[in-house]
Amino acid sequence: MRSFIQTQEMTDNVWMLTDRMGMHMTLLVGTEKALLVDCGYGFDDIFAAVRSITSLPVTLLLSHGHHDHACGAYQFDEALMHRDEEDVFTFYAGQWRQRVWNQATAKGLDLSDWTEEAFTGTPCGKAAFIEECEMDLGGITAQILHCPGHTKGSLCVYVPQRRLLLPGDDMNPTTWIFFPECEGLGVLKQSLEKLSALPFEQVLCPHHDRLLPRSEFDAFLAGITPENVKATSEAAFHLWEGKKVYACHPRPQFTLCYDFDKLPEEWK
Ligand SMILES: [Zn+2]
Repeated sequence: MRSFIQTQEMTDNVWMLTDRMGMHMTLLVGTEKALLVDCGYGFDDIFAAVRSITSLPVTLLLSHGHHDHACGAYQFDEALMHRDEEDVFTFYAGQWRQRVWNQATAKGLDLSDWTEEAFTGTPCGKAAFIEECEMDLGGITAQILHCPGHTKGSLCVYVPQRRLLLPGDDMNPTTWIFFPECEGLGVLKQSLEKLSALPFEQVLCPHHDRLLPRSEFDAFLAGITPENVKATSEAAFHLWEGKKVYACHPRPQFTLCYDFDKLPEEWK
């Protein structure tokens, strides 16, 4: 296994790691230890990438259990996650690996350091559970917050010393909450409102390659209203066969794809 991971320091001791599939992870480096938030699709040697930045002990935290965030967990002693996320993790970082392999080969990626059998046969890794807490990394703190929405056990991270929010997949330029394990739009909105009470100034989304100013988060949240959802929704049934998936635009550059059947009644 090789590492094609690219690293970029986004702000002081906050690194974005990007794997060969183009998936972003975040590494927070304190003076005592480091915290890696998410671990990508699992094709790359993540430790080699982390060790190119720090020699400190590193803990893995999963924002949630989807394959693009969690398939690399087998490289760690354990993967910290919310208890509600265990089934999502074991499914997507386990049985779903064949789909990941197919997706990677369809993209024409260099997988010469793997065989299909080796990748699809890799176990998902060991889950360990964490509640909301503060993790002191030495000079930098990670506040772990339970924010159901994209999944039931989604975790977000706030870094007070950098006024930085890592929202996981609860917020991306394209946010998906139509999978069977996703909560409805009402639940997502409650979690975003909880986050909005924090004094963050910048946001680093897993599916975006730049820091966003807080104003983007505020506009995204402000646009999740029954009126705006109704006014901007269009059918996106192709995203999940058999589900009434719609795409709406909380703000012009952001797309939010949701399951109509999980909309609060008063939003329909
Ligand atoms: Zn996800």
